[in-house]
Amino acid sequence: MKDSAQTAKPQNHFIFDPLTGDATIIAVNRAKRPDQTGSVGRKDSVSRTPVSSIVKDSAEAPKPKPCPFCKGNESMTPATLYQDEDDWNVRVFENKFPLLENHEVVVHSPDHDKDIEDLSTDEVVKILRAYLNRLGIYNAEEKEVIIFNNRGGKAGASLMHPHSQVVASKGFPGTIEQEKSSALHYYNSHVMCYWCHEMEKEIVNKQRVVLESKHFVVYVPEACRWSYEMRLLPKKHTPTFAYTTEPELYDLADVLQKVLKAYNHLFDRPDRNFWIHTERYEPYHWHIGFIPHIKVFGALELGAGIWVSDKATSEDAAAQLRDVIATFK
Ligand SMILES: [Zn+2]
Ligand SMILES: [Zn+2]
Repeated sequence: MKDSAQTAKPQNHFIFDPLTGDATIIAVNRAKRPDQTGSVGRKDSVSRTPVSSIVKDSAEAPKPKPCPFCKGNESMTPATLYQDEDDWNVRVFENKFPLLENHEVVVHSPDHDKDIEDLSTDEVVKILRAYLNRLGIYNAEEKEVIIFNNRGGKAGASLMHPHSQVVASKGFPGTIEQEKSSALHYYNSHVMCYWCHEMEKEIVNKQRVVLESKHFVVYVPEACRWSYEMRLLPKKHTPTFAYTTEPELYDLADVLQKVLKAYNHLFDRPDRNFWIHTERYEPYHWHIGFIPHIKVFGALELGAGIWVSDKATSEDAAAQLRDVIATFK
């Protein structure tokens, strides 16, 4: 007699990121596992409740500490390194608790609750111009730069007011170093940029493409480390984000807003990260990575360096993101 409780053996297998060598198991047979811990994706997660609404909801709540990133509280932060105008929309200063010698905070806007996807496209362009300013300064000092955004406690943010961070150093170990070295190998054997090649294949294949604009393409990498990870590439080959033109900036702002909104729609404004990888020298192709915090690390990730992508296949994730974006005006 057949045992109805017997589980089917999954057909999962490893997929490897060609550049970093990262191994991923696409394991969507696990997507329907019961979750009794409520550890991810919960609507009532404290980390996504704005301070202002906590206070509104409870008359006895203690008076919240003033936000150092709000306008008028500039004296609570280190000195301004960049602001777009006297009555600033975007402001940059040194991180009070730096990870590295050069570690800055980019406040996205004076608004305590509005993030990139909630602002106007013009306002997002102002944030991108601030990134470019900092990148130019550090590149002139022959330093490499990583620009990144952590939103929410699970993504590593400690303050609610939307902001990005900039770190600069003579070089970075880890993924960027790995990408540079693999890209050089790839170039030497194919006489072609790795990312240009990957992008071409994705555009032809279409299945993993989330969005294509005049200057950019966004897709879910085949070896995504988490379901719904996205990669944004400029169509024009260039190692550096530094010389992005004004028309490209407007296009980029629009694309950023759309893909971040898509995460909000699918996951109820999730904690998330994005990061800009940019280099001064060939062979490299600058790009942006995105991840929504819809899962937590387990022992395979932390103990074995194997990523488990178990919410959706890359193709399904891309289709869902694409469908949501199609509903935006
Ligand atoms: Zn604030
Ligand atoms: Zn390229």
